Amino acid sequence: MPEGPAVLARVDALAADLLELLAATVRDPSESGWEDRATGRYADWITARGWELVRQPIRPTGLAGDEPRAAHRENLVAWYPRRRGLPTVVLNGHVDVVPPGDEHAWTRPPFSGVREGGRVHGRGSVDMKGGIAAGLYALAALQDLGVELPFDVAVQIVVAEETTGVGTRAAALEVPDPAAAVVLEPTGGAIVPVSTGLRFFTVEVTGRSAHTSAPWRGVDAFERLIRVRAALADLARERGEGYRHPLFAELPTAIPFAIGTARAGTWRAAVPDHATMSGRIGVAPGESLDDVRHQVERALDDLAATDDWLREHPPTMHWEHALPGWETPTDHELITALRTAQRDRTGSELLAGFTAGSDAAFFGAQGIPTAVFGPGEVAMAHSPDESVEEAAVIEATAVLALALTRLTP
Ligand SMILES: [Zn+2]
Repeated sequence: MPEGPAVLARVDALAADLLELLAATVRDPSESGWEDRATGRYADWITARGWELVRQPIRPTGLAGDEPRAAHRENLVAWYPRRRGLPTVVLNGHVDVVPPGDEHAWTRPPFSGVREGGRVHGRGSVDMKGGIAAGLYALAALQDLGVELPFDVAVQIVVAEETTGVGTRAAALEVPDPAAAVVLEPTGGAIVPVSTGLRFFTVEVTGRSAHTSAPWRGVDAFERLIRVRAALADLARERGEGYRHPLFAELPTAIPFAIGTARAGTWRAAVPDHATMSGRIGVAPGESLDDVRHQVERALDDLAATDDWLREHPPTMHWEHALPGWETPTDHELITALRTAQRDRTGSELLAGFTAGSDAAFFGAQGIPTAVFGPGEVAMAHSPDESVEEAAVIEATAVLALALTRLTP
């Protein structure tokens, strides 16, 4: 194995090429559904490196569901240095990006890929083509140094993370039983060994309409919905107090509850006979998604028991998309490899917990040792003027390269 300084020097020598690839891929506007605008460039890069490449169209996997343009969308799975049948470490990144939204809100064109002020600018720069470039160039540096890793690396460049997550589920068919996984989402350079999950839901309450000059003749669905919200917030507060983890110590709660949309009634001068809201409730690592559902349903039953109308017309819950929480112990070999690598490159280590869902849940919830680690601030993602600091991308590349040389899964 080469010494750390040789790895760091090689990463620095490749930095200009890395940033060129990153800028070029940002100029490929690979919005969800249109990943094929960028996958060809990655495929060419991988092939030029001589790594074994599997192109995996998602439609034949039978997992594509309602995803549009399924016939044109494919994951890439690159095997470094080739598939040798050794234990496999996955590096995972999604090639799809969210739409730019209002282009007038952007200082530069959304897909400019301009390099300016020490940053690469454009949609996808931070979420997450910076992470993909870091993963690819970490391996390129090791290849240039002739490193023989005691495991195979499968780089999964997947579609549809921003929509249904089908890309990562499909890619698992190509890499069935990984020994460890690093998801290269932006973490501000923090090593993330734990993430809480979430369940999305919609709750509906009915009432009885009446003219608002005599509201007592009706039953106000909106007023009942507010009580439902309060009951759910109480439950969420209790649940938050019941789950503590040192990597979430700074946060008010590690398993947040929030309502994103709410709607009631159809007419200003009528008591609303219908009210609905949608939101999320957090899920602790190791907690079953069913347990959370049962707790919520019990809280709503308790509320309904206090009110004549709700007893007869209980709120209805619809459970939608969900992601489990997951956790890898901070002294697990995967995490310690990243921690020591980060100390060697930066002089300190940064660990953090995540309260947002990502494809890492797919790995972590199966008990696969998992970390999220990537360059750039997640707050930049999905917003206008998205950009990533070039130095952060190089730093993440160096940490990944060093960590891989220290891993023996
Ligand atoms: Zn992302």
